[in-house]
Amino acid sequence: MRLLQAPAGHGIRFQRTDLPGAPVIPATTDTFAPDELLRRTTLSHENARVCTVEHLLAAVYALGVDNLLIELDGPEPPFLDGSAVMIANLIELAGMLSQQSPCKSAAISHPISFTLGDAGIAAVPSEELRITFFFASQHPLLRRQSASWIITPETFTSQIAPARTFCFVDEIDALLRDGLIRGGSLASAVVIGRKTILNNALRFPDEPARHKILDFLGDLALLGSPVKGHFLVCRGGHRVNAAFGQFLRKELGL
Ligand SMILES: [Zn+2]
Repeated sequence: MRLLQAPAGHGIRFQRTDLPGAPVIPATTDTFAPDELLRRTTLSHENARVCTVEHLLAAVYALGVDNLLIELDGPEPPFLDGSAVMIANLIELAGMLSQQSPCKSAAISHPISFTLGDAGIAAVPSEELRITFFFASQHPLLRRQSASWIITPETFTSQIAPARTFCFVDEIDALLRDGLIRGGSLASAVVIGRKTILNNALRFPDEPARHKILDFLGDLALLGSPVKGHFLVCRGGHRVNAAFGQFLRKELGL
């Protein structure tokens, strides 16, 4: 993967350099691939796909990058340690340039609620971007777990980006059968057993809830504009985030 400078107004786009014609896939709510949103966010445009974009896009969005070309020589960004901390550190190391034309930003002006199945997202006006996530799981290790953070480049890099992806030990056979987690190990995900966490240590006591904030942020990035508001997410996942993103983009006139 290579992250390249892009001109003002370009937005965030992926380019599959391994495919004939090097197709470009814009990162917007219009390119969500609805058939592949169960465990990860996949984007598709004119027969080209890019999957598991959410951790990279969360870092790009939280750090305030509006224009970027992401070259990939395969179907997904490197999964790394299942978090966004390495990418966030690399973007900060590379540095960012201010561009001349101002980007379009948006704000939640009145309370909004959105439900899909048993998941719900509410958004209320706020001077900052804040995300609160609640698990509504019966699992003894997740029950009552929640996290709430104002997203700034600083809080993102130190508190959200390091939170790793997680899965349940009971799901591993099915994930392998579906061709997922082929490069997976305890180094790239938190594995939650029936009563204990299989990894030796969590990075934060509420690491899974923080990772859900990371995932939500990555899907929110597909609005294509910075947004202010407090988002309260209960039982969210990529499918509900995708539907919410499309609804919110219309609501905000983006
Ligand atoms: Zn994730």
